[in-house]
Amino acid sequence: MRVQNTNTYNSHINQYSFKSCIKYRQTPEKLSKKTLQLINKVQECNVYLKEHEGINPIYFVACYMPKALEGIQKGISVFKGLNMTEISFVLAHINEIGILRGCFNNCAHCYAEGSYPKRETTDYISRMSWKDYKDLTDGIKEINDRLGCITRYTPTPIMLFHDSDCSQVYIKDGRGKIHGWTELAKMMYDATKADVIFSTAGWYKNDKAAQQRMEQYVKEMSESDNLDYLYHFAISANPYQAMHYKAVQLIKEGKTDKAQFIIQKDAERMANVLFTVTPMLKTGKLKFITRAMSNESKNSAGLSADALVKIWERYFEELKKLYENDYYSEQKVIKRYEDIGQYLAQYKDLLYKKGIDIEPVVAERLSKIYDKDDPAVAFTKENLFNSPLKAIKSPYCYGIINPNGEFYMTTYYDSYKTPIKLNFENAHKKIAPISPNMYPEPITKEMINDLDSYLGTAYFKDYDDNVNQI
Ligand code: SF4
Repeated sequence: MRVQNTNTYNSHINQYSFKSCIKYRQTPEKLSKKTLQLINKVQECNVYLKEHEGINPIYFVACYMPKALEGIQKGISVFKGLNMTEISFVLAHINEIGILRGCFNNCAHCYAEGSYPKRETTDYISRMSWKDYKDLTDGIKEINDRLGCITRYTPTPIMLFHDSDCSQVYIKDGRGKIHGWTELAKMMYDATKADVIFSTAGWYKNDKAAQQRMEQYVKEMSESDNLDYLYHFAISANPYQAMHYKAVQLIKEGKTDKAQFIIQKDAERMANVLFTVTPMLKTGKLKFITRAMSNESKNSAGLSADALVKIWERYFEELKKLYENDYYSEQKVIKRYEDIGQYLAQYKDLLYKKGIDIEPVVAERLSKIYDKDDPAVAFTKENLFNSPLKAIKSPYCYGIINPNGEFYMTTYYDSYKTPIKLNFENAHKKIAPISPNMYPEPITKEMINDLDSYLGTAYFKDYDDNVNQI
């Protein structure tokens, strides 16, 4: 994976940071008392960096600068009530923005327990408001501008989801205008300079709004000559998708005819996904996420790696039919007959070369399928942190922002509540719980504010190793 590596951050600090300071100096009308204070604080940081030659600038951003710059967050509404250490903690770890909480796909392996979004009421929300998303991205931009550097040091890209599918990610503003995924991703990239992941396990063909949205997203991405904001466009092709999983259950009950009917419908659904996404092939940003049970696992009938390869073959049979129909009718995607073979070959190349992940996170939902003695279950258990302090010290712990401003941390194996809450207009509203494996003890304010006492060289060595491995 391509990541923003430490060098990128080095240059952000060394060049961008002090250029920003100079910019303030050279713009007389901006030299308010507040600005002068800011310049002094940035200069203070500059002196610190010089005195500590060779210091990892990421350590500097995470630990020293927040305290030195306390107060510069004043007036940024989304961070109201948080000190600079807490803000830095959020921005440094921000990884998932749960714009929509809930998913229509209901996959059997979903580690985040994605299930249908609940109907919104006056005190319950499932989707982030436009005002809150805009306040968040504007606030991050403003704080980075005031700091003169990018505060996010987590090496991973950002996701605009936690337990939802990107085909359903959009925000409707107060005037009814829809702000789609591409617009939201560009805003986040602009604010954080982190690439954004698009990921889909598909949508249902009869969901006309989702189909239109996806055609629009694919058009915007495939026709853009500036895809800097897009980390990759991932399609999840696995046997756990709700329709296929249902068919596997029916086969166990001896209802073979009904199962075959559903398997066929599922293949048609995914063929439509691949057909719609075809223009993304040329961007070089398309990839597959492939997960299945090991062929040796108990209960793996219909869900194994071997079964998955057969599922893909059915996708491609149906995709070929869609391509041929299109060539002889609308030519929306297939303009020349030879494109059919070329696109199918490109897809197969991407998919078959990928390798199948047989070590998923066996969280609550998947644990109902796996035998308790399966190696995948043991692997998940080994990776549980089971400690808020261990989680917070680790470079493998990532932040989730909820539509009501709550900030959670997850290792993807277990999750932790934090006391941090962004100042969102929907801050008072309730929301679906966060998974996987919410640990009973939260990360505390003290732990966050005492970060620099235990984030030492070891952390950043781990961090650098993490960056180099990805
Ligand atoms: S599409 Fe993703 S978020 Fe939705 S249920 Fe499936 S795995 Fe979970």
